[in-house]
Amino acid sequence: MLPLLIGTAYWIFSVGSAKAATPKSLQIYFIDVEGGQSTLVVTPDHHSLLIDTGFAGDGSGFRPGDPHQARDANRIMAAAHDAGIQQIDYLLITHFHPDHDGGVTELSELMPIRVFIDHGDPSPEAETTVPETNAAFSAYSMLRRGGQHLQPAPGDRLPLNDLEVTVVSSAGTTLFGPLPAAGAITTACQEHAMAPRDPYENPRSTGIVIRYGKFRFLDVGDLSGQPLFNLACPKSLIGPVDAYLVAHHGGPDVDVPATFAAFKPRIAIMNNGLKKGGALATYQALHHVPGLKDVWQLHRSADAGDSNFAPQYVANLDETTSHWIKLTAKKDGSFRVFNDRTGEWTRYAPRSQ
Ligand SMILES: [Zn+2]
Repeated sequence: MLPLLIGTAYWIFSVGSAKAATPKSLQIYFIDVEGGQSTLVVTPDHHSLLIDTGFAGDGSGFRPGDPHQARDANRIMAAAHDAGIQQIDYLLITHFHPDHDGGVTELSELMPIRVFIDHGDPSPEAETTVPETNAAFSAYSMLRRGGQHLQPAPGDRLPLNDLEVTVVSSAGTTLFGPLPAAGAITTACQEHAMAPRDPYENPRSTGIVIRYGKFRFLDVGDLSGQPLFNLACPKSLIGPVDAYLVAHHGGPDVDVPATFAAFKPRIAIMNNGLKKGGALATYQALHHVPGLKDVWQLHRSADAGDSNFAPQYVANLDETTSHWIKLTAKKDGSFRVFNDRTGEWTRYAPRSQ
């Protein structure tokens, strides 16, 4: 029996020391794709969920080319390399606009993508408001055929074992009822939803809530108009979140005080570019959200002027750099945020109940 005892003792020792060296955490990289979206989620067991792929090529139109020269695909690769990720286990395309699905062809030539998650097909009118929607979708759908495809509905859970990822909106529909611990009446509700800038594809965005222990993160892509309003009014279907990636890059159609009141974010992150998203009205609203501690920006916003938040919360002051913002969360609800430009971490204690 001696060898077995020795083996058991060794096993306990090695597991214990590994845990002490690398405590489990959730990591989220907000990658600078100049006003598009790409958010890399690394689960506690080191699986990857990439939310959107930024633009194709140099970002000036849907022209995928040499993957090694592609601006956004290589920025995603840099974040994946930093996280020690070798493949994209799950790719969620929130909706079919080229600032979200444009970079996928080049990325797929740099790194394998296993499971494709989306809301199905673009709305037939989508091309009328955003040119190249169809070309980008056709390239994406070719790739999608080579992997597993999931088309979840609101209320569905994504098939990750170590993280609870719940779909809250998709294809223009939203949750029928509140998530657990949500459902409070939102007092700040206006009578009507704000009209979306793009009525076809943005309101069809697939939105998710990620929960890791007590930590909650909300990402709704470019959700705007009625579906965004439905998540907040008349009652909050989402409940309080720790971090909220402001819908539609903080554009001029998401300045909806009821959403901030309903989601009660402790921090907000804005994936704006210097001249894309990041509308002055949204910044002004964010300066007056009760309980909102900090707003992190991927870019200084030209439109926001003096309403930009302090430089320590801004990852890129102009278009010459491509720093990310990284968030690391623990199960107890505490988290910290890293500005790759300044090299500084900011810590947040768990939400007090
Ligand atoms: Zn967008």
